[in-house]
Amino acid sequence: MRSPLDLDYDTMRDLGRQVTEIVARHLSRLRDEPAIRSLPRVELNRALAHPPPKQGSSFESILGTLESSVFPYHAREPHPGFLAYVPSCPTFPAVLGDWIAAGYNFFAGVWPVAAGPNEIEIVVLEWIRDWMGLPATASGLLTSGGSGANLTAVAAARHRAVEAGCDINRLTVYTSQQAHSSVTRAAWIAGIRRENVRVVEMDDDFAILTSDLSRQVSADRNSGLTPFLVVASAGTTNTGTVDPIHAIADFCQVENLWLHIDAAYAGFAALTAEGKGMLDGIERADSLTLDPHKWLFVPFECGCLMVRDPALLTDAFRILPEYLKDVEPAEEEVNFADRGEQLTRYARALKIWVSVNYFGTDAIAGAIQDGMDRARLVESLVRESTLLEILSPARFGIVCFRCRPAGMPDGLVLDALNERINSSVIAEGKYLISSTRLRGNFSLRICNLGFRTTEADIRDLVATTERIAALEIAALEAS
Ligand SMILES: *Cc1c(COP(=O)(O)O)cnc(C)c1O
Repeated sequence: MRSPLDLDYDTMRDLGRQVTEIVARHLSRLRDEPAIRSLPRVELNRALAHPPPKQGSSFESILGTLESSVFPYHAREPHPGFLAYVPSCPTFPAVLGDWIAAGYNFFAGVWPVAAGPNEIEIVVLEWIRDWMGLPATASGLLTSGGSGANLTAVAAARHRAVEAGCDINRLTVYTSQQAHSSVTRAAWIAGIRRENVRVVEMDDDFAILTSDLSRQVSADRNSGLTPFLVVASAGTTNTGTVDPIHAIADFCQVENLWLHIDAAYAGFAALTAEGKGMLDGIERADSLTLDPHKWLFVPFECGCLMVRDPALLTDAFRILPEYLKDVEPAEEEVNFADRGEQLTRYARALKIWVSVNYFGTDAIAGAIQDGMDRARLVESLVRESTLLEILSPARFGIVCFRCRPAGMPDGLVLDALNERINSSVIAEGKYLISSTRLRGNFSLRICNLGFRTTEADIRDLVATTERIAALEIAALEAS
């Protein structure tokens, strides 16, 4: 007797086709949809909350509920008008790679039970190593995202320091005001005292001031603390700024500090000649965070941590309980469970491997370059505009700007004007942009990452912003 959970071949193929149809239709018609739509919690709750049914229902009715009450209400990350936060715009082959990983349900935690998929992860990590210019010894693992990669790195660095005899309560970490919030959170989770997470001052370009780093490290040493880790950013989320990597790496070498570089946002720009030049020096990191679910065009979730010496990960994470004695890997094999916090992990490498093989690195590098070029177009259109001004130039696809009527000083009125422009652009439905604060001022921010956005979209978005800005200024003057 077959289990009722065990569907036959024809049924599986039929259900799978229905899903393929829905997803392919969604992706090919994104342009006809708003970039974001939402609904208040009470209304969604009314539509969706019900106890789990005792008896099953048809797949059609399940999909019907999703189509009416779920699919409409979200920000469409792969939409050509999605230019907010950090967009994630997966290729369809990458999506299928994820589906294959789920369909086979490979267990990518230990080598002996999934040699094939684990080898794919090793190969993908070797690709990433070479793209980043890391030494041949470097390897790492794929993680849930950039936050997971940062946490894994900080925990490994902390382990090395504590093993060397340092008192965890005295360990200090150095990062910048523009570093991603996940860096501070990683330090907290790793047991670093909250008052021991230092924020290094930045220069006019939002990059770490190495002189202030040096000043804070020596002040801390003088007061009996133990500096152990510097986290630099190679492409900040706010402005795409790269910290002065070579100067920081030189300093870390002299001071014997672990250098972690967070390149979650911009790292894969290294596939282009322009990006490679801008990221010069990241190969000097002791550990490096990347985020394939950003600029490598794979779906959530997929981050990556690379370390110069993978033994630093196994030292920190390896544990061998009795029930896993028979899955010890041979010398040249890898148990990815020994390199991070996850035992059971799915084969994230497949989506990268399928997509990169399908398109080739030229096409992927081309899409990354296009994003950087579109940001440059935004910058030049903003510079031509009499109403708009640049707050941070195009870097790795990111541009920050605002509307500023002639003579209006920084302050609440100008901030409020730009907040209204931001909301009105979004309310029109074609574009989702986002905002940030730079030197205390409200800034509009555009992040060009998705491969569906065209030059015409960019021209239309800037024209839309100017049109709305003119209306808001007129309303302000009338009031
Ligand atoms: C996105 C980002 C992160 C966090 O990555 P998640 O994948 O969201 O966990 C960390 N650092 C930088 C620079 C980022 O842009």
